[in-house]
Amino acid sequence: MKAVKFGGTSMSTADSINIVKTVIESDSERRYVVVSAPGKTDTSGKVTDMLIGVFNAAPSARAAAFAPVRVRFENICAGLGLERGILDGEFNDIEVRLPNAGYDYIVSRGEYLCAKMLAALLHYDFVDATELVRFSGRTYDDAYTNVLCRAELEKHSDAVIPGFYGADASGNIVTFSRGGSDVSGAIVARAVNAEIYENFTDVDGFMTCDPRIVPHATTIDVLTYKELRELAYMGANVLHPESIFPVRKANIPIHILNTFNRNAVGTKIVPTEQFLNGQYDRAKKMPITAIAGKKHFFSLYIDKSMMNAEIGFVRRVLSCFEKLNIAIEHIPSGIDSMNVVFSAVERPLVDALLKSIENEVKPDSMHIATDVALIAIVGHGMKDRPGTAARAITRLSNAGINLRMIDQGASELNIILGVSDDDFDRALVALNGEFEI
Ligand code: ASP
Repeated sequence: MKAVKFGGTSMSTADSINIVKTVIESDSERRYVVVSAPGKTDTSGKVTDMLIGVFNAAPSARAAAFAPVRVRFENICAGLGLERGILDGEFNDIEVRLPNAGYDYIVSRGEYLCAKMLAALLHYDFVDATELVRFSGRTYDDAYTNVLCRAELEKHSDAVIPGFYGADASGNIVTFSRGGSDVSGAIVARAVNAEIYENFTDVDGFMTCDPRIVPHATTIDVLTYKELRELAYMGANVLHPESIFPVRKANIPIHILNTFNRNAVGTKIVPTEQFLNGQYDRAKKMPITAIAGKKHFFSLYIDKSMMNAEIGFVRRVLSCFEKLNIAIEHIPSGIDSMNVVFSAVERPLVDALLKSIENEVKPDSMHIATDVALIAIVGHGMKDRPGTAARAITRLSNAGINLRMIDQGASELNIILGVSDDDFDRALVALNGEFEI
């Protein structure tokens, strides 16, 4: 049996929801369905954004601010041929609560109404996420949720469930961060022991490279959880970053699929061990699975002769970052010098950092570069295969691109290259050409 999740674009209009219905009905295994709120259309914004606007309105103006949301749902219901007034009771309840309601209740109503609507269309049970997903205060309680969700869904042979939120022990609604319906889908998939978690979206899957920069980038058919983590970190944002953990724990694969392109095979994200054991095969056999990158990092270069003999030097430098709450990305180092790469921060914080390091370790010199782009070359195929880094470096050098940093993790799953922001696009094109992914 399969757990499926449909994102906002899939749920945005009566036409798209009719496609969703066809997709669900084409496979009788698709029995547990999680939905996002309707996404944006040519004429209307995302329902969740509209609801944030409702929350921000003065309490007495909230009902008026909610009116366009109501109209949006009424139009979708009419387009789907659902019984007139089917959601009237829900709208009335919401409108009564609006003046005194908190943020989480209001913004969660998009998913709630959407799930109500789809359940009616499919003749599936509606099960509210408040009965399934538990928070302790504002912190998601994974263990309790799994028990609760399992016990409740056992009572239903099919269900439509709103994504994005749950409730605390007193029944108050608590939302995940934006895009959190991906997490809800994974929670449901694990609770019902789904064979697969199908995540329907509006793209064909994860791409080998950013198609805006490398137009001939292709869709990756199989990606491991570990590879996904590396790519997501570098900004390949198809899935909510936390969405994998419930299914990852249960070794359930995720299948990213495009609601609007049923011919696309999509991307399967599979447990790393199962992939390495040969349980999944990739169509293309290459050392590299994908290349992703991000611009606008800072890189601090610190030089001090005999640095490597000075016990505690690196720790003291890093403690300066810690004191100022600056997260570190990479630390490539030499004998008498080290580099610390971190995400861009405001100028006063940089000044405070330099001062703190100056006091702490008295370096011979320090220099900060503020235009560093990082590129990750990711793939299990590079393990025990000599030459991957050499090929990458040679290709960049042949393209006249200066390499400012290189870092390979012990896992041999990725190689991180630093180039200047200005060289970023050219570097991606060159590397993609080298590995022909
Ligand atoms: N509707 C919410 C958002 O726009 C949650 C989601 O779509 O996953 O962020």
